[in-house]
Parts: sequence; structure tokens; C-alpha cells
Amino acid sequence: MTKSEYQPAPTGACWCGCGAALGAGSFFAQGHDKVAEAALLAALGAPVSIRNHRKKAGH
Ligand SMILES: [Zn+2]
Repeated sequence: MTKSEYQPAPTGACWCGCGAALGAGSFFAQGHDKVAEAALLAALGAPVSIRNHRKKAGH
């Protein structure tokens, strides 16, 4: 039986890094998936620097 290994397992803490305790089967506290998405973009680098540049230029 082959099962996908790409499926992450919930750790019981919010994956955005805030440390919030969650119930079984949850990856994020409510709304924190957006936080994690922003953190992922930050980790990738380029999109955030572009966004910051635009923010300054558009002021
Ligand atoms: Zn969180």
C-alpha cells in the first residue's frame, strides 16, 4: 500500500509559529494560515522586497 508522504501531520501547535495550541487535526489557528502564507513569502525573499518597495514608492 502506497501512501503519499507529502501530507504533513498536525503537531498540535499553530504552524505559523505563534505557538498557539490547537485541537487534533488542525494546522493553524483561525486566520493564521494567512500569517503562515506571508511568512512563506518572506522566506522566499523576492516578493516581500518588491512589496516593500512599492509601499514606499506609492506613499
Ligand atoms: Zn498562529
